Amino acid sequence: MAKGSAETQLSVDAASRAPAVMWFRQDLRLADNPALEAAVASGRPLICVYIWDDTAAGGWPLGGAVRWWLHNSLASLKADLERRGGRLILLRGEQTTVLEQLIAESGADLVVWNRRYEPAGQTSDAATKARLKALGVAAQSYNASLLFEPWELKTGTGGGFKVYSAFARAARARGLAGGSLAAPARIEGLAFSVKGLELVQLGLLPQKPDWAAGLRATWSPGEDGAQLRLERFLANGLAGYSETRNRLDLDATSKLSPHLQWGEISPNRVWRTVEAAVAANPDLAEDGRVFCSELLWREFSHHLLHHAPNMPEHNWKPAFDGFPWGDAGDPLLEAWRRGQTGYPLVDAAMRELWVTGFMHNRARMIAASFLIKHLLGHWRVGEDWFWDTLVDASLATNAASWQWVAGSGADASPFFRIFNPVTQGQKFDPTGAYVRRWLPQLAGLPDQFIHHPWVAPAEILSRANVRLGETYPKPVVDHGAARARALAAFQSLKEAA
Ligand code: FAD
Repeated sequence: MAKGSAETQLSVDAASRAPAVMWFRQDLRLADNPALEAAVASGRPLICVYIWDDTAAGGWPLGGAVRWWLHNSLASLKADLERRGGRLILLRGEQTTVLEQLIAESGADLVVWNRRYEPAGQTSDAATKARLKALGVAAQSYNASLLFEPWELKTGTGGGFKVYSAFARAARARGLAGGSLAAPARIEGLAFSVKGLELVQLGLLPQKPDWAAGLRATWSPGEDGAQLRLERFLANGLAGYSETRNRLDLDATSKLSPHLQWGEISPNRVWRTVEAAVAANPDLAEDGRVFCSELLWREFSHHLLHHAPNMPEHNWKPAFDGFPWGDAGDPLLEAWRRGQTGYPLVDAAMRELWVTGFMHNRARMIAASFLIKHLLGHWRVGEDWFWDTLVDASLATNAASWQWVAGSGADASPFFRIFNPVTQGQKFDPTGAYVRRWLPQLAGLPDQFIHHPWVAPAEILSRANVRLGETYPKPVVDHGAARARALAAFQSLKEAA
């Protein structure tokens, strides 16, 4: 996968000893980093740089949880580079202007980076490349964050895929290119006086209040943290993954998503490591296959975003434009955000998100379905909230997943499939351990009532110290009535079509 596309390469003067700029972005790692590998191979002294510009995100400035992650990931990268003789320079401002200034001050004649695939990033990167070309500075870019570039896989007629299974088949048939590159043993830094910013000056950490205690307790951003997650998953999670990945009460998934989002580990390395585990133990074949299918869902999201760049803002299926969503200012939506809906599984999920910046995939599906179908909240309300609170917030995956739940997306779950949060809880959190963990006020309830406390007899509630409407809310909507309302709304959409 370490491949630069031909049209992006400008000629590099192989004999030059002028410095090269290694521009880190969403690839905050040293191992299996094709741009870094190319920069080191150029034999030039390196200027490693990260440029912070929160105005360039095309309407999607990073959310709070992700900013926290970025701060810590940069700290980790900085330390890793220093251990190998390099230095990370932090700069702020519009990327082309900052690079131009850096080139003028350093005499660099080569800039290398790994590509980003969000629409706004692609536009600004194209402008930067054109400007470098005009300046006579060579520019090389690579793919480091996807198994396949979003435009690489095509249908028989040359277009983009709309159905996941066909996409996944094409991906598996193509197979991965390239191998996993080791981290360079040594990085020749440049004795160079450009004064960068201190990390704290980027202002990424929450100050008053500091709400990040739960994030600190849960995560270790950075390349080492990513590698440890992968190793832990191989040791404890892969065996049985195909069965247990939906269980909310078990720690059965990899939790690699934020590490992948910031490129602290490559999907290529994750895929190949799992493949090697399966080769060593064929009993893991089904678990490995299902896990790699999830990695391909991530790829599919990027593929969809590439072919529908307005997917984060607009229904992928325009037929949904006339859907009668409720009023986004509704206090019920606030109850959803705060985990106060009275449905324990939904509320536990929203608490998990608030405290840790993460939510289990099954819980995401149930919480999202509840917002969209029980409350008739627009999927964009949920997308925005997740964008701000998830440590793994990804423009492509978040938008594709919200639209998948809403039924408005590509290869989406049909709108009329409405999760019942009670039966989902009984199935995927059978002993209520997940609910008890995130809603300790319900911990004393017997298992049979934990997912629907409103049906518990008064004496059982009293013994468990639960007072509905005081210590825990009554359900904000009746499931049956909400379901009927959602189906009627969907019917009205079909009739209008
Ligand atoms: P694992 O089960 O260990 O899977 C391995 C990897 O595969 C993940 O790290 C992730 O990169 C990928 N993956 C797993 N499930 C999916 C999926 N359904 N779609 C796409 N990729 C997947 N994921 C994000 O990374 N960022 C988001 O912003 C995001 N928003 C979501 C919003 C909603 C409403 C829903 C329903 C899902 C969303 N997901 C998102 C997908 C999924 O929930 C997470 O990727 C997954 O929970 C991460 O946990 P894990 O790393 O333990 O996954």
